[in-house]
Amino acid sequence: INQKLFEAEKMKIVSHLASSVSHEVRNPLTVVRGFLQMMEQTEMSRYEQKKFLKISMDEIDRANIIIGDYLSFAKPTEQNMEILNLKKEFQRAIDMIKPMANMNSVEITTKIESCYIKGQSQLFQQCLLNILKNCIEAMPESGELSIETKKDKKLVYIIIEDNGHGMSKEQLVRIGEPYFTTKGSGGTGLGMMTVKRIVDMLDGRIHISSELNKGTRFEISIPVVESEKGQSA
Ligand code: ADP
Ligand code: MG
Repeated sequence: INQKLFEAEKMKIVSHLASSVSHEVRNPLTVVRGFLQMMEQTEMSRYEQKKFLKISMDEIDRANIIIGDYLSFAKPTEQNMEILNLKKEFQRAIDMIKPMANMNSVEITTKIESCYIKGQSQLFQQCLLNILKNCIEAMPESGELSIETKKDKKLVYIIIEDNGHGMSKEQLVRIGEPYFTTKGSGGTGLGMMTVKRIVDMLDGRIHISSELNKGTRFEISIPVVESEKGQSA
């Protein structure tokens, strides 16, 4: 019965996420549609047209960023919970984030043990990418991004650390609060909220520490499972 309740709780988190995505993306779409309709129905100067087109494109970019920080995934059921190879998952996330790291002259170092967890690749990728993106954004003019895992019998600890601009105590307590961002219109304030929800879904825990002008450290612990071969991975 407990397990059932737990699964129901997880489904609730996911459907909540999905409905927030549609809500967030609908706003920019509504704005764009309104402008297009106005341009169709109203005579206006080329200058005015351009102004509305510019706002529309900005809104479309905004929708894109929101989808990026959130996610567009199918509802997970027991069926699409899979055994994830942590090493492979990290390799994939790092491949994705490499171009962004290069742009900021950020060096990535890794020390990742072979180990397996139960989850959904798409969700786990979203979680990693949101954290890694934040770390790189905190180091606009070079820095080091370190990714490490440590394993004990029951848990794997994922430690992601940057030496970027860090956070004040006030900022640190607000991290993960919906719409909390220090990046102005460039931020959504949805990335860390999504991270926290996904960690919950993986039955994990997250701990964040940060020091202004020194850097930030994310520690996530997740239950490990046996590998496909039936051995403890
Ligand atoms: P966004 O990145 O769109 O601002 P997030 O939810 O991803 O939204 O992050 C919220 C805020 O937390 C950021 O605006 C930033 O102030 C802070 N933050 C998150 N990660 C880091 C980090 N690695 N270093 C410094 N600040 C961070
Ligand atoms: Mg972010």
